[in-house]
Amino acid sequence: MSGEKMALSDKVKEVVDTRILSQSSINRFLECRRMFKLTYIENKQGKAEAGLDYQFDYSWLGKVIHKVLEEFYLPQNFPSEKDLDADGTNKIELVLLSLLDKHWEFGQPELKLIDAKTMLKLFAQREAQRWKEQRNDPDINFVPQYREFELLDENIRLTAIIDVMWIDKNNNVNPVPRDYKTNKRPEITQSMKLQALITAMLINNKLNEMPTHFEFLFLRTNKSLLYEITTERINKAISIIENMWKEIENENFPKNLKSCYWCPVKNYCEGESRCWI
Ligand code: SF4
Repeated sequence: MSGEKMALSDKVKEVVDTRILSQSSINRFLECRRMFKLTYIENKQGKAEAGLDYQFDYSWLGKVIHKVLEEFYLPQNFPSEKDLDADGTNKIELVLLSLLDKHWEFGQPELKLIDAKTMLKLFAQREAQRWKEQRNDPDINFVPQYREFELLDENIRLTAIIDVMWIDKNNNVNPVPRDYKTNKRPEITQSMKLQALITAMLINNKLNEMPTHFEFLFLRTNKSLLYEITTERINKAISIIENMWKEIENENFPKNLKSCYWCPVKNYCEGESRCWI
């Protein structure tokens, strides 16, 4: 065994011993195992780049939108009942756009700012409607108490972050947590299904409440899609994760050339930075 291989094995061991899989690391593993190795074992970093917007980091836009929506639900930002009753959509829009202004970085493309504003305006309409329904129906008294929190299950070594959970005044948990998506196409992909199942498992472990569904809210189109959580699906997700750990321990990191176009670490791909051409 060469010295280099020994060093890598030590690194893999370190990852196996100490690391916990997050949603993004799982996605990267499913996308291309070599990409996972470069990012999470060799700690290489780079921006996702592809297509016409070659210079633009899409993950940055997603992070800003998530930050804005997270802060929107904080008590100091959320509009008052009086304001919501009088002029819901406009008041919500005002808050969202001022938060966007706070987080937007000077020099980012103007077109992306328009993109972000469009998403937030659509969200304002949805949120105003939710508020109206809640006002008119005393049974709908769930409020977004948890904005974003980490769940950790040490047995299967996973973490998940939830964008919104709804909990009522009696601490009852609405069994449909929500995740915001800024994807262009509103569809539930395989990796999103896995995300829903992992998150459901962790919610159940922590709050003793198994979600019945997981909601994906696609902000560009204001479309909401529900994914049903079943025991069979949960078991499948557990076996996928267990298998991932086995492959990591065996250092089985083959390339997947289908993902090279946008790969953030392609320049580190063992001297084959142009393997995607
Ligand atoms: S360049 Fe291609 S093969 Fe290499 S890590 Fe990236 S996606 Fe995988």
